[in-house]
Amino acid sequence: MTADSQPLFGKIALLGIGLIGSSIAYAARRAGLAAHIAGYARRAETLDEARALGFADSLHGDPAKAVEGADLVIMATPVGAFGELARAIAPHLKAGAILSDVGSVKAAVIRDVGPHVPEGVHLIPAHPVAGTEQSGPTAGFAELFDDRWCILTPPPGIDAQALETLTNFWKRCGSNVEIMDPRHHDLVLAITSHVPHLIAYNIVGTAADLETVTQGEVIKYSAGGFRDFTRIAASDPTMWRDVFLNNREAVLEMLARFNEDLNILQRAIRWGDGDTLFNLFTRTRAIRRGIVDAGQETAEANFGRNRPAKPDAKSDPKKDQ
Ligand code: NAP
Repeated sequence: MTADSQPLFGKIALLGIGLIGSSIAYAARRAGLAAHIAGYARRAETLDEARALGFADSLHGDPAKAVEGADLVIMATPVGAFGELARAIAPHLKAGAILSDVGSVKAAVIRDVGPHVPEGVHLIPAHPVAGTEQSGPTAGFAELFDDRWCILTPPPGIDAQALETLTNFWKRCGSNVEIMDPRHHDLVLAITSHVPHLIAYNIVGTAADLETVTQGEVIKYSAGGFRDFTRIAASDPTMWRDVFLNNREAVLEMLARFNEDLNILQRAIRWGDGDTLFNLFTRTRAIRRGIVDAGQETAEANFGRNRPAKPDAKSDPKKDQ
């Protein structure tokens, strides 16, 4: 057995076994990263679904039981639940364990979880920048993190061995790993993920409220661009409520910039300034090419979507986070 094929942990505990938690279980199984994978969820229905899917070795309705003896604990619930969860598991964490998460915001994790972390437990927040608009244990799959970035935001002075182990964990789950300051993470993700989601929620809401255009027309002509926003706007409401409540400053800063730029476009349209429009649209096309060239998106036209997806089709794993 080479070092790359040996388990990294005796036991992993996944607190939250929806899209991200279950995908970690599948990816960890695929790479043989742990002898035992424990899962926790609140609802019996979620635990039943997970049991039927079989991605965990043990399932628990009590987070304290799930983390007993775990070498790696990953919080994968909506961000707003992390503080309470950390308080509940703190006395039950194994000395020397790594405590991590997958939350889409990072400064708030250190604020809410940090105060509960016992001496000798290593808190290393993480954000796998990968996902789909689907949720729950049935949405998970092993390839979700392949060739995606996972951003770690370790506090200063973190144990180097613990950081190396968690880095290896995410690499062996298929990700590329980057280390970042939590506030910088929140600013970057505000513009690359949070504000785009807010725009999608807003435009779909605006279209739904229009009185002069019927709902039938909105749906019938959605391939004109609207359809792509509806996919993002179908993302989990609890998760996204928590993201905006916990990344307030960075989102507001990026929204202010966005509104200024939107005003410039509005003005260009009003005054018939085609050059301003054309120059921006040329620049943005190059950004799209850059994303495709970096392997973060398909080069196929229309996201490779040649005919309408079947209603029960699984979402494209390579779509945004
Ligand atoms: P999800 O599919 O909705 O799963 C959430 C899980 O958390 C479920 O197991 C749910 O269990 C549990 N849960 C929900 N509320 C809870 C609460 N108040 N207390 C305890 N457990 C609770 O969500 P997800 O998409 O996997 O997202 C999980 C985390 O990953 C979030 O923090 C999100 O920011 C982050 N993230 C998401 C994406 C994405 O694209 N979805 C990408 C990167 C990171 P029950 O069913 O029993 O309630």
